[in-house]
Amino acid sequence: MQFKRIDVGILGATGMVGQQFIRQLTGHPWFRPVWLGASERSEGKTYAQAANWRLSSQMPEELGGARVHACTPDGGPQLMFSALDANAAKDIEPAFAQAGHIVISNARSYRMDPLVPLLIPEVNADHLALLAAQRRERGWRGAIITNPNCSTVVLSMALAPLRQFGLRSVMVTTLQAVSGAGHPGVPSLDIMGNVVPSISGEEEKMESETQKILGTLNGDAVTPHPVVVSAQTTRVPVIDGHTESVSVSLEAKPSVEQVIEAMRTFRGRPQELNLPLAPPAPVVWLEAADRPQPRLDAERDGGMTVTVGRVRRCPVLDIKFIALGHNTIRGAAGAAVLNAELMQAEGLLQGD
Ligand code: NAP
Repeated sequence: MQFKRIDVGILGATGMVGQQFIRQLTGHPWFRPVWLGASERSEGKTYAQAANWRLSSQMPEELGGARVHACTPDGGPQLMFSALDANAAKDIEPAFAQAGHIVISNARSYRMDPLVPLLIPEVNADHLALLAAQRRERGWRGAIITNPNCSTVVLSMALAPLRQFGLRSVMVTTLQAVSGAGHPGVPSLDIMGNVVPSISGEEEKMESETQKILGTLNGDAVTPHPVVVSAQTTRVPVIDGHTESVSVSLEAKPSVEQVIEAMRTFRGRPQELNLPLAPPAPVVWLEAADRPQPRLDAERDGGMTVTVGRVRRCPVLDIKFIALGHNTIRGAAGAAVLNAELMQAEGLLQGD
């Protein structure tokens, strides 16, 4: 599929996720970042002055000199990626949608809104059908589409292949990277050589977002999946990559081999459509007993894959395993760009 490159903007372009957006969109075959927005602290500065660039890849020269705009919907391209702080997203994203922009957001503000798709293209591409009702009910010419919380996306992608076995309940404990807290994030004296057993709001997000993502579209609404999720979230001294220890109860009592096969062979719309950021396989299983590891596996397939390992019997529930995903790529910017690619491929990127 070939498209003329579409001009796009980034709301919250100066933050950790905003920088990942720039990385993902620079050289993208379909999208071209041309408009950068952030807070009034950054407005009017050049991007190089405003952003504290934290990625190992270089800041693209052509964007370093670009002026940072205020996040007001008075100009800028129709397609906007949002890496805004959730407090700011609450008012800014609907203002852009009202003005006709399509806002593809990372922020939590509208994820659980019943009319907003909480999208993982491999898992629930059909939930994009909510957009018609969203526009009708809200009177927006544009729209808001969200991607899940960075831990939820790892869990949901690992669970999606297991829906066929009748997902009943899930216990998950996360080991989350510090980049998930933005920059400067957790003070070094709190995290070095330590584990912090609490991330505000994270457990609730994993428990509710997973049900919506795995849920079934019925007309203009998503019926949440009945799976019960119990999450415990911890912050660990890892830079990138959220690791999750998962136990799951499955109605059909599949064998370990059947579970591995279901994960290994799982594919979705992005693979069918061969979207630019789609990994060849959304879930990769590794046999080695010491994998996955964030340092070795988080960047697999450009950071878009969820890697699982140690799939085995659980004496309390049925099956347990370890899952890992890149929190600012598959858990944020890469996820949003894949959402936009799916929408473009499905002819949904035009406002009314
Ligand atoms: P961050 O580094 O703190 O960046 C926040 C961005 O929002 C900055 O560009 C900031 O601009 C902008 N901003 C803040 N207040 C604003 C306002 N009132 N008006 C306009 N812009 C404003 O945060 P982050 O880690 O990139 O996270 C961004 C969003 O993605 C959050 O909603 C977060 O929950 C979500 N998320 C993050 C991750 C992750 O792994 N980090 C994963 C999934 C989702 P200034 O630089 O001008 O202050």
